[in-house]
Amino acid sequence: MIPDEDFIQIQGVPGPTKEEVRCLVMCKARIASKDTVVDVGCGSGGLTLESARKARKVIALDKNPEALELTRQNLQKHGLTPKVQLVEGDALEVLEGIESFDTFLVGGSSGDLPFIIKQGYEKLTKHGRIVVTSILLETRVEAVDTLKELGMTPDVVEITIAKGKITERGTMMLGRNPITIISAVK
Ligand code: SAH
Repeated sequence: MIPDEDFIQIQGVPGPTKEEVRCLVMCKARIASKDTVVDVGCGSGGLTLESARKARKVIALDKNPEALELTRQNLQKHGLTPKVQLVEGDALEVLEGIESFDTFLVGGSSGDLPFIIKQGYEKLTKHGRIVVTSILLETRVEAVDTLKELGMTPDVVEITIAKGKITERGTMMLGRNPITIISAVK
């Protein structure tokens, strides 16, 4: 995984998803070298860059132009630009113009999560994977319910990372927000 501090970060654009969380998202996504990945809500590019290191192609989209620009800069910094197509726009509109893909990562939804999951499912290849990263209580439930409605069996993992801060007296463990990773196979 790419260390958090190796990402260019700016105020107003969330991310990157913390290294330890990226680890688990990538574990659940099981991206193969022939795969096409779609990353909905690329933010700072945390998951886009990790996907680009594994996949054949990544389509990263975000409705915030600043997020796309930041992802572009981070891709360039890590030499991953050629594999990634960046698309500005709302997930539901952009997804309409994409043909098919093997892995569907959802990290932002602005209240449209059930629709985004359903639209992604339509375009997902057989045995393709959906991985939703959720910080809100409500979106966890929406993700689980929608995946079940589509006949999938969601795998739900909640993690709370505590990171050690080295101080003079010892290592102080600092807790971070819980994050839920909901994934399913078509
Ligand atoms: N995974 C990213 C962080 C994602 S933050 C990283 O590791 O850096 C969530 C992002 O989703 C934000 O940048 C936000 O602009 C975007 N977003 C939220 N709803 C969206 C929607 N409906 N369509 C496209 N992008 C969306």
